[in-house]
Amino acid sequence: MRTHFVTDQLFDGVTLHTGRPVRLTVEGDRITYVGDHATPPIPPGEPVVDVRGRCLLPGLIDVHVHLSYGNAEANEDIDIYTPFEYRTLRAMVYAQQVLMAGYTSIVDPATTGRVSLAVRDAINAGWYVGPRITAAGRQLTSRQGLGDWYPPWIGVPETSIGALVRSPEEAREEIRLQVKDGVDIIKIDFDGTQANPRTGHLMACFDQGEATALVAEAQRLGRRVFVHAVDREAVLYAARAGADVIFHAFDMDDECLEAIVRNGCMLSPALTFLYNSIEFTQPSDPSYDWRPARKRRVVERAVEVLGTARKAGVPFLVGTDSGFAVTPYGEWHARELQIMVDDLGFTPVEALTATTVNNARVLREHDRAGRLAAGMLADFIVVNGDPLADVGVLMKPGAIEAVYLGGERMTLAPPTAVRRYPWERGHRQWGEIYSRDRVARLALQGPVSPVTGPPGSVSRRRDRR
Ligand SMILES: [Zn+2]
Repeated sequence: MRTHFVTDQLFDGVTLHTGRPVRLTVEGDRITYVGDHATPPIPPGEPVVDVRGRCLLPGLIDVHVHLSYGNAEANEDIDIYTPFEYRTLRAMVYAQQVLMAGYTSIVDPATTGRVSLAVRDAINAGWYVGPRITAAGRQLTSRQGLGDWYPPWIGVPETSIGALVRSPEEAREEIRLQVKDGVDIIKIDFDGTQANPRTGHLMACFDQGEATALVAEAQRLGRRVFVHAVDREAVLYAARAGADVIFHAFDMDDECLEAIVRNGCMLSPALTFLYNSIEFTQPSDPSYDWRPARKRRVVERAVEVLGTARKAGVPFLVGTDSGFAVTPYGEWHARELQIMVDDLGFTPVEALTATTVNNARVLREHDRAGRLAAGMLADFIVVNGDPLADVGVLMKPGAIEAVYLGGERMTLAPPTAVRRYPWERGHRQWGEIYSRDRVARLALQGPVSPVTGPPGSVSRRRDRR
């Protein structure tokens, strides 16, 4: 059975069709026709969905969604407080939230355990409905790396996002194990956690020889390599090693950019995480003291160097680092497009091409997704508004009127307000030490017992002071 969608504004991923009615025809899970509505005529009896006044776009793609993180407020939330089984069930709901926001495909570039692989496989098997998922395993890290954030006397537990590799041999072993596990891509952390005391820059956590060997082994096994690299040294090593996708690259120089261009690397900044963490972090948040001030300087530098990379013709992929408390699932994905337009010099069409056609290049379904054309998967969205004039409409509540995945209209309503897992709050009970001096400053002196009266009488008594 064929279904015909008629509209007067259709963006196929590259070109905007507008001015006269356009038709998109779907048969099964594929698009069979995109073009003029007037001819050829629709055979009698075939269903027509009239969405004139609405914009039809390819299903959006976010290449940076961490399904297992659970809108984390802390590293411990990601790595420790929940068992894998619980994280997996939770990740399925989050995947559905992302889908209903108009994102029909995502890349999960770093999971814990095999969480995202399980979600991907359960969707592909038909057990659940969810977006198309291209998944990594744990991100490889060295002792100096971001993925090894634990005190040295703990080590990196199995439940961590990081897979600690202590030698090139261990790194090869981990890559081969992940390939056996069925990962689609390999994620490697190249940023260290320590600044070089002489330069003030972060030191890369692998040296150039190790970086080149790791990327080469993953690529030999047919996997694209995604690298976390914020600072200059990590970006340079990743680019020289020929990594496929470099995340962030906020602080790079001409030497980095030359290597990126020479080796055909793609950049994916995830500025949404950075912007949101600056704008949203409140005085009551533990990171308030350092995050907003320090990160504002990072933004200024990032906008400058990434704008230069765009002008140099480097392909950009679009991702948001969703899965943290400042980048909750389904909420801010399109903000990255807005930032690209506002601050990096992209036109709305270029930003939308990046998040559809460019992003599709790194998907499992790279030859079938990201464009509206005959033969492609029928993944598309119906938008109330004109994202080609203002990409910000994609974030407006209710603007995504319909999401079609493989030709089927999605009607999922995943829960959004759920209770946290009991251990997720950790075991920290107080934020400061109650010395006599502090208690005196807080004017808390005086016995509170024996407490008479109903519960709450202690605070009532204090209120009266
Ligand atoms: Zn990330």
